[in-house]
Amino acid sequence: MKIIVVYDNKLYSVLPGLKSDWGFSALISIDDKHILFDTGANGNILIRNMTILGIDPLIVTDIFISHHHYDHVGGLSHFLNINNNVILHSPTSFRGVKNVNEIRYYDKPEKLYDNIFTSGELDNIEQSLAIETGNGLKVITGCSHPDMKDIFNSFSSFGKIRSIIGGFHDLSDFSIFSGLELISPMHCTKHGRKINELYPNQYRIGGVGKTFTL
Ligand SMILES: [Zn+2]
Ligand SMILES: [Zn+2]
Repeated sequence: MKIIVVYDNKLYSVLPGLKSDWGFSALISIDDKHILFDTGANGNILIRNMTILGIDPLIVTDIFISHHHYDHVGGLSHFLNINNNVILHSPTSFRGVKNVNEIRYYDKPEKLYDNIFTSGELDNIEQSLAIETGNGLKVITGCSHPDMKDIFNSFSSFGKIRSIIGGFHDLSDFSIFSGLELISPMHCTKHGRKINELYPNQYRIGGVGKTFTL
């Protein structure tokens, strides 16, 4: 599985033209699926960053929306104008998208496809994604507005969590990460430096253009 961060408040790659902006989006490629996780705040920046990173928006097969805050869904309508031949995996509280091939809503933990799982919408706001690649679950979060404990628990029937990347908001109970192999805090994470101090071997710097092969 490959994950390429295409939208974040920070730049990782120095490729000319890439833009950082408040928000988050990443392309997850596994088997024949190319899943766009969130869409950032601005569709023009999203498409431009994808193009510079060598990603054709037309390869996207699925869009997974973590939650309806503008910095995660702001780029959605612009993206759908370019490619709406996708399945949109949405938390139940996010309504109003019409211009799309198919929409599926999730209010509880569920399998999307083989080895791909959602937490379902937690706290009436947000869902997270987890992917099994043979050696444990890799979790991707948008903002982690729900408690991280609840996010982790929601995946417990699908396997053991090994990695986490994404926005962790103001998470401060860092013991939840003990035993993980890879931790990459991005976007809205307030205590990234502390996480780096506590887990120096697991910590990875994220940002636009960062690629994870997991
Ligand atoms: Zn948010
Ligand atoms: Zn956010």
